[in-house]
Amino acid sequence: MTGASVKVAVRVRPFNAREINRDAKCVIQMQGSSTCITNLKQSKEASKSFTFDYSYWSHTSDEDPNFASQQQVYKDIGEEMLLHSFEGYNVCIFAYGQTGGGKSYTMMGKQEKDQQGIIPRLCADLFARISENKCTDLSFSVEVSYMEIYCERVRDLLNPKSKGNLRVREHPIMGPYVEDLSKLAVTSFDDIADLMDCGNKARTVAATNMNETSSRSHAVFTIVFTQKRHDEMTSLDTEKVSKISLVDLAGSERADSSGAKGMRLKEGANINKSLTTLGKVISALAEVQNKKKKSEFIPYRDSVLTWLLKENLGGNSRTAMIAALSPADINYEETLSTLRYADRAK
Ligand code: ADP
Repeated sequence: MTGASVKVAVRVRPFNAREINRDAKCVIQMQGSSTCITNLKQSKEASKSFTFDYSYWSHTSDEDPNFASQQQVYKDIGEEMLLHSFEGYNVCIFAYGQTGGGKSYTMMGKQEKDQQGIIPRLCADLFARISENKCTDLSFSVEVSYMEIYCERVRDLLNPKSKGNLRVREHPIMGPYVEDLSKLAVTSFDDIADLMDCGNKARTVAATNMNETSSRSHAVFTIVFTQKRHDEMTSLDTEKVSKISLVDLAGSERADSSGAKGMRLKEGANINKSLTTLGKVISALAEVQNKKKKSEFIPYRDSVLTWLLKENLGGNSRTAMIAALSPADINYEETLSTLRYADRAK
């Protein structure tokens, strides 16, 4: 990362069964850090090229230089962000893209060890580093919360009794927070893994009950990591607190593409509002960081998602975004719009 605060990666998943059945063609090529998308529909093939910090390929073989396993993606992005949190930065990693693009696979992954995504790997790594610590004057505490934002309303995924409309408030020093959101202290990776499981189940159950799918909500997994140093000479304690937010965003597909009406339309408008605001916030911050502008109005308060992530996106923070892509021509328009979104974040 060269000075800029946002690290941007794109990751293309393998073809799924539906795409194979429809004999879909691959429209993505990757070489080094560049990703190229080709519109096969046009008589004269038109390609557009983008450059990112990382361009990750998933299918064909491991020998492809752009191939990236779950471990590799963690090493490049998760580990770097975790190291920043040890330095005392707030960090945020989020996955963006259309439903089925591979966001949950990248963030959570699957049960099998080699298929685990960034969140379980980062949690395991956090506790491994804590247990390796040899400084006797240093102590650590870790707290976890897990929430879902659906139609601008916040639901606590770690409290089964949560009604799903928790209030968002702003503390004068600590910044925005969710009132009554569970924040649970954890002392091992197993503790976190249990909470993650509970939260993921709560997400699915709530979605089924409300006849929605989890793809229409944002899931925000937050780790508050505190390092306390005790000075023997003065008997004073100093604290370094960092917030690590790991976000699986709602699907970015446009509401208008499915002829949505009523609730669906409202849902679509809300999702678009948060994703558009997130895009605006990140590109405004990138402009300030890249010194294109001295200062800029950052519209955090325009959506619940960006308001809550305020301390993780601006100021003393490091952000990474992973855009998840389908390789198939049938998703060309969505994939191009995802690439453009990722491009604006740089
Ligand atoms: P999203 O969360 O964006 O809706 P998912 O993460 O659920 O999408 O991915 C859709 C399907 O594709 C899942 O079955 C997932 O396991 C698979 N998949 C996604 N990305 C990859 C990848 N990089 N490698 C292998 N399989 C993937």
